Amino acid sequence: MRYLFGIDIGGTSVKIGFFSENTELLEEWSMPTVLSHLIAEICGNIRTFLKERKVEFCDILGIGIGVCGIVKDGIVLRSVNLGWENVDVISEFQSELGSAIDMVLLNDANAATIAEFSVLRNQYSNMVFLTLGTGVGGGMVLNGQLLEGANGKCGEFGHLKVDDKYREVCSCGKIGCLETIVSIRGLKRLALHYQKILPTKLSFDRLTPKSIFDAARKKDVLAARVVTEAADALATAMVMISDIVDPEVFVLGGGISQAGSVLLKAVKDAYFRKTSKNSNTEILLSVFKNKAGIYGAAQQLQKKTGGK
Ligand SMILES: [Zn+2]
Repeated sequence: MRYLFGIDIGGTSVKIGFFSENTELLEEWSMPTVLSHLIAEICGNIRTFLKERKVEFCDILGIGIGVCGIVKDGIVLRSVNLGWENVDVISEFQSELGSAIDMVLLNDANAATIAEFSVLRNQYSNMVFLTLGTGVGGGMVLNGQLLEGANGKCGEFGHLKVDDKYREVCSCGKIGCLETIVSIRGLKRLALHYQKILPTKLSFDRLTPKSIFDAARKKDVLAARVVTEAADALATAMVMISDIVDPEVFVLGGGISQAGSVLLKAVKDAYFRKTSKNSNTEILLSVFKNKAGIYGAAQQLQKKTGGK
């Protein structure tokens, strides 16, 4: 039996998945993202895990690594969350674990896109994946191929301009970007905006996307309004994307998508109201949820090594 790892390095935590050579997840765990010596910490973690499980290094096919940042040709050009600039992640991993270990490096949203596409590839060739969380990211598969763009920045959907009503300044400097509305902070801000205008049973001390979607499910007036507006903004962006790349299917992932059917229904209603008549685009929820990153990284590694 041989194994591989899929790692998802995010701004707050690092998720590590231990997979069989057929990319079946065997075990997973996470560790907090520490900014100093992060790669050494992750590698120490892996060494300890293998020692405890009595697995030899020669039985490891390789490691797939997804990173929150701009990735090009095996280098992290920039990661604002990790404070990295031009970091040769593969060389650093190999200097810790040995150069014989095969590795692939990719952007975390692209890794998640690969995972989600793996379960749809028999049905579809053109998919857009949107991840809704702290911000909005995503990735695209066209004609069965993942698109990375000239600088690995393909799929920065969070910065599509969709709003002219609240005119919030985005972290990117523009006004009215999608992620000023459909993000953890954006949803909270919308709820606060309607606090004095609409009736609600929401507790504003402990406001989270989950509490807002839960209340919307119970027909809370304010929460339902927030969900409708967020779905509307998301649908506006999806129609723009659809007009450019004409996908067969959109997949919604990230923490906010765990709201499930209440979000999906609102997005579908808004999307089909806004898009061209007779559109038969599918809109689905993520299959892998918060494990999409580790699965995609592992699958990309397996593709590279061909299971050798
Ligand atoms: Zn922006």
